[in-house]
Amino acid sequence: MQTRPLAPNSVIGILGGGQLARMLSLAAAPLGYKTCIYCPEDNGPAIDVCHSHIVGDYGDQAKLKQFAAKVDVITYEFENIPASTIAFLNQLITVSPNLKSLQTSQDRLVEKDYLNSVGATTAPYANIATKQDLDNAVRKLGLPAILKTRTMGYDGKGQVGIKTMADMQQAYDLVSNNSSGLDKPNCILEGFINFDLEISVIIARDAAGNVAIFEPSENAHKNHILNSSTIPAQISPDIRAKACQLASDIIHGLDYVGVLGVETFITTNGNTPIIINEIAPRVHNSGHWTQDACYISQFEQHIRAIANLPLGSVARHSDVVMHNLIGDGVALASDYAKQANAKIHLYGKQEIKTGRKMGHVNLLFPLDSLIKT
Ligand code: AMP
Repeated sequence: MQTRPLAPNSVIGILGGGQLARMLSLAAAPLGYKTCIYCPEDNGPAIDVCHSHIVGDYGDQAKLKQFAAKVDVITYEFENIPASTIAFLNQLITVSPNLKSLQTSQDRLVEKDYLNSVGATTAPYANIATKQDLDNAVRKLGLPAILKTRTMGYDGKGQVGIKTMADMQQAYDLVSNNSSGLDKPNCILEGFINFDLEISVIIARDAAGNVAIFEPSENAHKNHILNSSTIPAQISPDIRAKACQLASDIIHGLDYVGVLGVETFITTNGNTPIIINEIAPRVHNSGHWTQDACYISQFEQHIRAIANLPLGSVARHSDVVMHNLIGDGVALASDYAKQANAKIHLYGKQEIKTGRKMGHVNLLFPLDSLIKT
């Protein structure tokens, strides 16, 4: 394993051309690195700010070879890059996070099995391949429950909430692929967690096994999409410590290099106050607040980790509320611009669509001023 720091002017290859790749590129520049974006589209948030880009499908081995020859290390901005693409590139050059991390987070069943294997608690779950499996699992786990496709789901896509037996037809449709638009999805049924709040832990690990953990954020969702993150989260020191320990166990078990997002439910009933929902092998929307409230952002931290630089400080100098600017909500940016404590980040997307993440704003407050007593 190469542990020497990547030399200045080296090129970091990023698979994916969206806002996360954009913000990774912006964070790489002050460290003296250039980025080369590989994505199927000829335009996109990252292409505006990178040094070079290659337009190609994730299955195009000739183009992927060309990409690997141009860069010194490769990372990715989202977990739905085909595993075969990472496996192919990995024969040519280091890809961080590794294939195991990608494969674990790509499939909700593999992910839940892994999380339980390292001592984390997840929602109760069952693999669903047929309608019969679904009937059996509903009997076993009870209702309410959530049926999710094992792969390719995000922001609530590929999911059916089953509150009562009246919702079963929609669930059967998802199992038999009548409505999901996905190619023969296998599904997972999850017991519904009656949580008090959702927090996430943004953790980084370097190749030597050092970890650095940002303060957990308290997240609020609207229509299954992250709406805001508040830091600090209203959790006890004990929960904070346990959540960080779990994130640490999860990241070490994957031999992970880079930033990982760990999404959790916090419940006050029952013996297990922390239930892990899912992990994301990349910088994460609920970590965007680090750009303006910390000395080192999650984006710089990721670049540091994959470039074999020392992990940076996770110290926070401000309290912060991050608001996503979604769809038409992007119009609020000009109002936020009047606020002295607002740091605006727009992604440069041309077309406004319902539910589309167009940008975010970090509202900064004095340290510890958001703590409710
Ligand atoms: P996911 O698609 O797994 O990221 O879930 C999106 C959101 O749906 C989560 O942030 C929760 O708000 C909610 N959710 C997902 N799974 C469960 C569950 N098992 N119980 C309760 N709420 C859930």
